[in-house]
Amino acid sequence: MTPTPIVIIGAGPAGAATALRLSYLGIPSTLIDKATFPRDKVCGDAISGKVPTLLNRLDPAIMDRFRKRFSPADVWGIRFYPPSKKLIELPFKVGYERIPDEAPGYVSKRIDFDAFLIEEVRRRPDIDLILNTEIKTTERTQEGYLLRAKDGREWQCRLLIDGSGAHSRFSRHEAGQETDKDHHAAAVRAYYRGVTGFHPDNFIELHFLDAYNPGYFWIFPLPNGEANVGLGMRSDIVKKKGLNLRKELDVIVASEQFRDRFRDAEQIDPTVGYGLPLGSKDRTLSGDHYLLTGDAGHLIDPLTGEGIGNAVYSGFIAAELAEKCLAENRFDAEFLAAYDVRIERVLRTELRLSYRMQQIMQYKWITNLLTGIVAANPKVIELLCRMYTDFELRKQLVKPTFWWKLFRTKTGQVPAVARK
Ligand SMILES: Cc1cc2nc3c(=O)[nH]c(=O)nc-3n(C[C@H](O)[C@H](O)[C@H](O)COP(=O)(O)OP(=O)(O)OC[C@H]3O[C@@H](n4cnc5c(N)ncnc54)[C@H](O)[C@@H]3O)c2cc1C
Repeated sequence: MTPTPIVIIGAGPAGAATALRLSYLGIPSTLIDKATFPRDKVCGDAISGKVPTLLNRLDPAIMDRFRKRFSPADVWGIRFYPPSKKLIELPFKVGYERIPDEAPGYVSKRIDFDAFLIEEVRRRPDIDLILNTEIKTTERTQEGYLLRAKDGREWQCRLLIDGSGAHSRFSRHEAGQETDKDHHAAAVRAYYRGVTGFHPDNFIELHFLDAYNPGYFWIFPLPNGEANVGLGMRSDIVKKKGLNLRKELDVIVASEQFRDRFRDAEQIDPTVGYGLPLGSKDRTLSGDHYLLTGDAGHLIDPLTGEGIGNAVYSGFIAAELAEKCLAENRFDAEFLAAYDVRIERVLRTELRLSYRMQQIMQYKWITNLLTGIVAANPKVIELLCRMYTDFELRKQLVKPTFWWKLFRTKTGQVPAVARK
């Protein structure tokens, strides 16, 4: 058996980011994954601005290495199609100039992005990376946790950091984080080649369709003429309507609305599905000798389905607390509760806001009314662009007074409340 203070289960974005942050703090760790990399992960492959911002904090050259190695699609905005189909284009930066090395977001197949993170892990000699090893059991001991792999190997640790994703056994059985269908989404993804009609600056597309609410159909542009195409919906609604999302994806692609864009396209991989544990319900993500990160901590944005950014962010927060645990030799639940305090401050407010927006958007008429106001008002579009980076501004979106003032402002002037 190997005694080691910090063991991380799962080397996806959450686990890899935890190990990297620890390493840059000068702290060794053991990082275990059941897969060998490169490996696929069912995802929309959209990497929001949070990810480069955080990774650059480790090493300002890190994103250069990523771009050189995997040439991701540089993304400059979102095309948003409400049920009324009235297109709204939201660039991530007002008046941007397209410089690929300064892109605010990317689309990169996860088989590449996750392999890149593993390459970064391999550059750090103090991370003991153990692949092709599935942790089968975790047992609470006097010192912390005893982890046992399928092949019989064991690790004794003081702090277990769980980054083992949406199906985490530890999160469910040890930390008691049951799946709640009202706060969970199901989604399917297919790779296509030859889809046409993209924005020239790789805007990702979210199509909010009547029959799939709350949820959306997406088309994200990948390099080399490929696209990530998918459909996601809240699991309780999928169950209630008895939908088979794989079949529904085919129905949408063949529908009148999208037929032209897919006329010469071919699907290059079978359609695959996976679950999204949404962060719309408050949960406690720490306890005696453990922390839950990423999907194991149910931290996916309930409106956009974005989880990579929060996986990396929670990994950083876990690593920074682990440094304090080691310094003070404290691994008890009371000390580790500081993790939840920081998650609350950094991520929960944003998750709650997204949940409120997800709920508001269940009412088609409200969505159509609000997007109608936006589409007719260039200054509001500019304001919404600024909201991408300004969280305080984004809070205005769920305030009825904000929309009421816009509705009454026929001149297109942004109301004073939002100009601050
Ligand atoms: C269809 C779909 C579309 C999505 N689209 C987007 C998107 O466009 N943008 C976005 O930001 N997010 C998206 N998400 C969410 C995103 O995929 C996740 O939030 C993200 O992968 C979470 O990272 P993670 O490291 O927590 O978990 P994962 O990426 O799932 O990594 C977990 C790792 O743990 C390993 N593991 C599991 N069990 C064990 C074990 N017992 N022993 C050892 N290793 C183990 C696995 O092999 C895996 O490598 C999407 C999700 C889905 C399902």
